[in-house]
Amino acid sequence: MKPGRRAACPGHRRILARLAAAGLALALLPAAGLAAAGAAASVRQPAAPGGSGQGHAPLAGRIIGIDPGHNGLNYTSPAFLNRKIWNGREWEGCDTTGTRTAGGYTEARFAWNVATYLRADLMALGARVVMTRSGNHGLGPCVDKRAKILDRAHANVSVDIHADYGPVSGRGFSSLEPVADGPYNPVSEPSARFGRDVHAAMLRDSKLPVSDYYGRNGYVSRDDLAGLNLTTMPKVLVECGNMHNAADAALLVRAGVQRGIAAALAAAIVRFLTAR
Ligand SMILES: [Zn+2]
Repeated sequence: MKPGRRAACPGHRRILARLAAAGLALALLPAAGLAAAGAAASVRQPAAPGGSGQGHAPLAGRIIGIDPGHNGLNYTSPAFLNRKIWNGREWEGCDTTGTRTAGGYTEARFAWNVATYLRADLMALGARVVMTRSGNHGLGPCVDKRAKILDRAHANVSVDIHADYGPVSGRGFSSLEPVADGPYNPVSEPSARFGRDVHAAMLRDSKLPVSDYYGRNGYVSRDDLAGLNLTTMPKVLVECGNMHNAADAALLVRAGVQRGIAAALAAAIVRFLTAR
């Protein structure tokens, strides 16, 4: 069944097409097997947040956390960034400025753009979305507070969006995942599973390759990041590409590529929450 034949309003048709391109058309259909028109109608009319009727929007009733890394004005206050926060294992800085391309395009702006595209995609699929910052013209919040915002929202799954500053010759995306060595051990296994969904979807949709310089096949376990140490739900931090590499940077600054990364993350979230 080709999703493209389904009646859907333009915005939802775009998302359905993206998910179909990502091989996730079936993930949109409940196991009972809905008629195509029914599935399309459900996406067109996602349930209101908190409503009892969830329709057939695949993410109805789900809460998704998005943490767009850094913030646009972080560079203005080293004192704020240098404040120490407890990350569950050790003290670390409140946050950093993030990186930027050689052309000056900042990681904070990239992360914010991808986050807003992702939020729109997820809401169209019926989800309630919680973000850790409300724009790209502010300071903070600190990384521990970001984790707690998503924890308190009881998100079902969360993603931290970043871009890396790796070696000039290095390319590609990587998933940073929590390790099972702290108070929230149960999240490590599902986080690893979510990481595999992210990798598969990024390879299909993002135009970025798997990292050739970081981690093992682009998978990295980290025990030194507040966002991963303090999470009470499955979460991965995605380094979407290497801003220090010219080829990656040329992709990361493009709106179309940012939308593709968002589509990949949305597809990964749908698969993680519905396909098993
Ligand atoms: Zn970052």
